[in-house]
Parts: sequence; C-alpha cells; structure tokens
Amino acid sequence: MTSFLTHRARVHDVRLPLHRRHSALRTCVTLFAPYGFRATYHHLTLSAGIPRRLEADPDALVRAVEELHEARVLWLARAEEYVVQRRAEKRAGRRAVPNPRPWWLRSWWAGWAGPERAWYEDPCRHPSLRLPEYVRRRNALLDGADLPGCPACGNEGLPTSVSTGHSWVELCQGCAWAAAPCPCGQRHRLLPETPYGWDEIWQRAHMSDDGLPHPHWPEGRSAGCGRRPAS
Ligand SMILES: [Zn+2]
Ligand SMILES: [Zn+2]
Repeated sequence: MTSFLTHRARVHDVRLPLHRRHSALRTCVTLFAPYGFRATYHHLTLSAGIPRRLEADPDALVRAVEELHEARVLWLARAEEYVVQRRAEKRAGRRAVPNPRPWWLRSWWAGWAGPERAWYEDPCRHPSLRLPEYVRRRNALLDGADLPGCPACGNEGLPTSVSTGHSWVELCQGCAWAAAPCPCGQRHRLLPETPYGWDEIWQRAHMSDDGLPHPHWPEGRSAGCGRRPAS
C-alpha cells in the first residue's frame, strides 16, 4: 500500500475532521505534483473549486484528490513501462539514458532548473490543463507524438521574451514554460516578484465560499493571477 493511496483514503473519509482531510490532500500533493507542489495545489483549488471555507463544500477535497489520483495512475503506468523498457535496453548493452529523458525524471527533482521553473517561482503560473490531460500530453510527446504548441500546455501563441540582463529567455504565454535556458547556463529568476503570499494561497484566500475564484484577489489580480483558470 503506497502512502499516496493511504492518504487518498483519508481525504475521502467523511468521519475525519475537514482539516485532517485537507492535510491528507496536502500529503498526496507532496507525493505527486505534476506542476510542482505549490502550483499543483493552486491548480487543484481552481479545478476542483476548493472553497475558502472547507465546510462550504467538503466534496471539493474529494474532487481534488481524484483528479490527482487519475493523473498519477496514468503516470505510474507509463513510468512502469519505462522501467521495463530500460531493463531490456540495459540487457541489450545500451546503458545510456535515452533522449528525450522522461518528463517526470526532470520535473520532480530538477524542477527549479528545468523548463518548468517558472511554476516554482510563482504557483499561479502553470498550464491550465487538468492534470490527467497534462500527463497524457507529456506521455504522448515522450512516445514521439507530434503535438503542436507548447509541450506543457499546447499554447500556440508567440512566446514572450524575458530579459536576463545579458540575454533573453522565451516563455510560453500560456504557462511560462521556458523552452531553452539562458545561453550563459546560469539560473535566473524569470518571473517578476509577484505579490502573492503562499499562506494566502494555501488558505485559499483566492477562492470564494461558492468554490469560484474570488473576483478581487489579491488587489487587482484574479485568482488565476491574470490568466483564465482551467477551461
Ligand atoms: Zn505553455
Ligand atoms: Zn544568463
């Protein structure tokens, strides 16, 4: 029994107080977070409509953990295939890690340095895809599918150029994915410091009790931080 499934069961358990179920959701997100921990939580608050006061809609926690679970099942299946494939390749004498490297090997531990780094800088910036769609998209690309647009979110608009002082990095308009790092090879902060407070996001200050984004949070910004939430 994996710890994810144990905690998922706790999120479902109506006998537990809501704050316990919410903290079980948190544990699930620490164990599987396609957009990184903070951005994945922010995404789930919007997609599952988790209200500011959990009592207003306890089922929102279940919707959130089920979206996460569905994405995790898809990822696990592909990750297991990958392990089998690697074993066969090693037996055949091919030890080098294939290119492209599976997306999950990057985004978990190297998120800060990878093309998804903006999602770590600002939890409001991430693809608006539901998590299972995101995992399907990344898996399909790994399998060689030719999908147009940003690898992460599919946005086909022109990227936005951001200065790093001595060069430029192009960011996807939809999700701030950086297709290529700064040519100097150093990490730079790619997004302006945003006035979000993580504690506020965690407590869903950006959400109303009806599970819809709060229209005025923070001052002058929408809950999607200037973007349309999941569509
Ligand atoms: Zn994108
Ligand atoms: Zn640079």
